[in-house]
Amino acid sequence: MQCPNCQNTDSRVLESRSADTGKSVRRRRECLNCSSRFTTYERIESMPIAVIKKMEVENFLIKIN
Ligand SMILES: [Zn+2]
Repeated sequence: MQCPNCQNTDSRVLESRSADTGKSVRRRRECLNCSSRFTTYERIESMPIAVIKKMEVENFLIKIN
């Protein structure tokens, strides 16, 4: 994640919490170079594999009933 102030790519995460009912993660970051603080939002694109497997099992059960 690039710093908006100095474009340095090394930052540390101060705080991370889920936002938008778990679909994205909001992170407070601090640049290791200039110490400027910024917030990033990271959208979770893929579902956890366990959730996908559970859905496949459910679909299978629906088909055989
Ligand atoms: Zn910076």
